[in-house]
Amino acid sequence: MQYISTRNANIGMSAAEVIAMGLAHDGGLFVPEALPALKKNAVAALAAMGYQQRAVYIMSMFLDGYSIEELTDIAEKAYNTNNFDTPEIAPLHSIDETASFLELWHGPTCAFKDMALQALPHFLTSALIKTGEEREVCILTATSGDTGKAALEGFCDVDRTKIMVFFPKDGVSDIQKLQMTSQKGDNVFVCSVVGNFDDAQTGVKQIFSDEKLREQLSEKGYFLSSANSINWGRLLPQIVYYVSAYCDLINKGTIKNGDPINICVPTGNFGNILAGFYAKSIGLPINKLICASNSNNVLTDFIKTGTYDKNRDFYTTTSPSMDILVSSNLERLLFELSGHDDGLIRKYMDSLNATGAYTVNEIIRNAIQKDFVAGFCDDKQTAETIKDVFFKHNYLIDTHTAVGYKVYRDYVSETGDKTHTVIASTASPFKFCEAVLAALGRNYKLPGLELIEKLEEVSGVKAPTPLTSLKDQKERFTQSVNKEEMTNVVVNFLIN
Ligand SMILES: *Cc1c(COP(=O)(O)O)cnc(C)c1O
Repeated sequence: MQYISTRNANIGMSAAEVIAMGLAHDGGLFVPEALPALKKNAVAALAAMGYQQRAVYIMSMFLDGYSIEELTDIAEKAYNTNNFDTPEIAPLHSIDETASFLELWHGPTCAFKDMALQALPHFLTSALIKTGEEREVCILTATSGDTGKAALEGFCDVDRTKIMVFFPKDGVSDIQKLQMTSQKGDNVFVCSVVGNFDDAQTGVKQIFSDEKLREQLSEKGYFLSSANSINWGRLLPQIVYYVSAYCDLINKGTIKNGDPINICVPTGNFGNILAGFYAKSIGLPINKLICASNSNNVLTDFIKTGTYDKNRDFYTTTSPSMDILVSSNLERLLFELSGHDDGLIRKYMDSLNATGAYTVNEIIRNAIQKDFVAGFCDDKQTAETIKDVFFKHNYLIDTHTAVGYKVYRDYVSETGDKTHTVIASTASPFKFCEAVLAALGRNYKLPGLELIEKLEEVSGVKAPTPLTSLKDQKERFTQSVNKEEMTNVVVNFLIN
């Protein structure tokens, strides 16, 4: 199977090449040239397997050039009970006949990005060998919180990789900061940047476009890559858990093999829900993909009207990982639904760059509306939903998951659809203690670590160990720099 770019459908590249490269040189995203299909009895067979084997099966459908032994090794390294606090890896929690939460936060950083970032570094190490790349890769990341820690955990002590994370000094929570500054590993570096997320992000972008630095690093045997990037190796592991959830629903007797389900995803960069679309495209019986946004509802408007317009107010919400106005992965969906029309995609993306907006043609709009429905919910409704689910179903959810559930409930009220719906639960509620406690009617002004204990008390739920054990961790990285100094930090870490 070859891969092509959303902005050039004629380049044929191998899976290893696109994983090593991340982003195409033309600025587009890599996608498979043709999608594989689940064989007739595949789901029944997968239902009898554990998560690792399911992952090997699905990933092998997309990764020519990676042997089954190699993929088995990667799945074992990524999805085991040292990294995850349950052997199920991504368990389902059903609250009634029609709705289940797919808990994607049992990994080392308690958010769903672990599902991909525990696997990606191993794909990358293999890709370096396969493509004959002799240099080491250094992952450079600016983070507003969750991605940085998930990338650090994923790349920690992985062969032939180094990772550097820059976070805004005043832009992350106490817990997020300590999660990163206490990171273990010989190949990691963490540094704060004076300013906000944009300052850190701008600094990282400047480093990536610095030709001189690139040569200097190359001579020393390094090249830079990104974990923020929309690497195919980050998307592929996410297809697995939708297939896995379907298998679990069969095993629980909730559905019969062949019955349709809906999937509802709290969405930011459109990666997680796009993986659901790919699961449907390879033949998993998915009826509707429900796209849930917070007050930054650019995707809701797009799916309803066909016009994407980022010219609007930006809101800081209680679901910060979804505070995004440009959802990069949408480009892949448009490419798929346009029948791989790279010229058309270039036109839309040029328009997005020039004016901040584009309108898709009727064919694409109709295709989107056939598969997707969309809705959004504000912070007040998010809080009400957390409270409601806790008291009605005795189940504690985080702010992002609450956005998903609220939008799902609205969809059911409007349509009466009784199809069993899997709601992606993207973070542990203990990662967002302050907002979750407030939703339960408890307002505290306390340091982050103390809030974890408060939420345990109030909810009667035990917090995940990676978060409670933070109180015994020491800060390892204390450096803080202005964004102009970031290049020096990179040089010092890699060369001096
Ligand atoms: C990243 C993130 C999201 C958004 O996922 P996308 O793939 O960007 O749509 C939702 N919830 C949480 C907790 C996240 O960390």
